[in-house]
Amino acid sequence: MSERIERALRRATDTKACVVGEDVLARTVPLFREWFPGASRALVVCDPRTRAVAGGRVGELLRAAGIEALEHVLEPGGATFHADYRYAAEVRDAVAAAGTPAPVPVAVGSGVVNDLTKRASGELGLPYMTVATAASMDGYTSFGAALRSPEGAKITYPCPAPRVVVADLGVLRTAPPRMAASGFADLLAKVPAGADWILAAELGAAEWHEEGWRTVQAGLHAAVDAPEGVAAMESGALGRFVEGLMLGGFAMQDMQSSRPASGAEHMFSHLLEMRDHTYEGEIVPHGIQVGVFTHFMSRVYERILAHDWTALDVDACLARWTPLEERERVGARVFAGTKFADLGVKAVRAKFVDREALRARLEGLKARWPEIRARLAAQLLPAAEIERRLRVVGAPAEPEEIGSTREATLADAHRAIFMRDRYMALDLLDETGLLDAFVRDALGLA
Ligand SMILES: [Zn+2]
Repeated sequence: MSERIERALRRATDTKACVVGEDVLARTVPLFREWFPGASRALVVCDPRTRAVAGGRVGELLRAAGIEALEHVLEPGGATFHADYRYAAEVRDAVAAAGTPAPVPVAVGSGVVNDLTKRASGELGLPYMTVATAASMDGYTSFGAALRSPEGAKITYPCPAPRVVVADLGVLRTAPPRMAASGFADLLAKVPAGADWILAAELGAAEWHEEGWRTVQAGLHAAVDAPEGVAAMESGALGRFVEGLMLGGFAMQDMQSSRPASGAEHMFSHLLEMRDHTYEGEIVPHGIQVGVFTHFMSRVYERILAHDWTALDVDACLARWTPLEERERVGARVFAGTKFADLGVKAVRAKFVDREALRARLEGLKARWPEIRARLAAQLLPAAEIERRLRVVGAPAEPEEIGSTREATLADAHRAIFMRDRYMALDLLDETGLLDAFVRDALGLA
């Protein structure tokens, strides 16, 4: 276990062990014995693909060690099909139907199988274990499960992270290459996401959490600097990148917030999801979407870094700033008629500052811009380099490549600030009347 993972584990509330490496699948049994002491039964949750690459073997290993290993195989249908709360209920019922003593749920899969098992285990109050089958996202070690509710809205259901995570690199290599491309893009997203956090904290609009920052960011640049090695699935590059994904989840577990792992680039992906966006009949994987908007936000940040904020006309910004009631009306209009009608008003209420607070924020930006700029510049990567790395792992970089458009991205930039209580660079641009111009310029729109 790396020093960074060990450090994260010492702070983790739910996860006790996380093993990433070559030939670690067989460690499932000793880890099971160590962290589920006295447990004599397990229920392996998988789908036909993950059963073939690891689930069957995990069951055999457990049985060979004298543990009764039952199995629940989700029907085939792919990730799109299963990212739905009713399958979490199915898993929960399967665990409950297994009788007593309750078996330890063991998820063998990637994002969706893990999320279904995480939620099912959470509802039953049972700790569970996960065996990763793809390096596709950072949710293995995070709290919460992103599933579609019975009403049709994608929401994060609260539930604890797994007690034990096993990620065997040989198993991860069997996944379709697009899954690792998605995970790599999700990790690369922490570059501009970190910039959003720096900016928000510098402007007094977000809490700073040094441990959460270190967990995700301390080794981030080293984890995303070898896209060629990730594309070739080389042991070193793949291991560093998978550890980076695990650390992203740990930071979210630690802070009970996605702040360390997600910034504006994630809001654009959430907006597509809210519209049930598909491309060529398929849901675009989370990280693939996020990668496109990581590239886009890097272009926006290049314009922010090039701007002379010391010349900002604060009085002009304050003159444009509207009172809370007017702002709430704007927020209400953004998602009117959707399943998320109250989202905008909630975000406005959480983020709103009055003119005096805004003056203090913007004067602070003017006065300290050289230091703030230096911190942002040290965090960010050039947009061209972000695009190069995405292309090397086989991930797209432009909205058109996932069936969206630059015009839709522009419209979503105006919506993104009404998504969450989270202050981002886009909020600063909105407060200073520059949002539309900077985003158009970044997108090459007139
Ligand atoms: Zn993500």
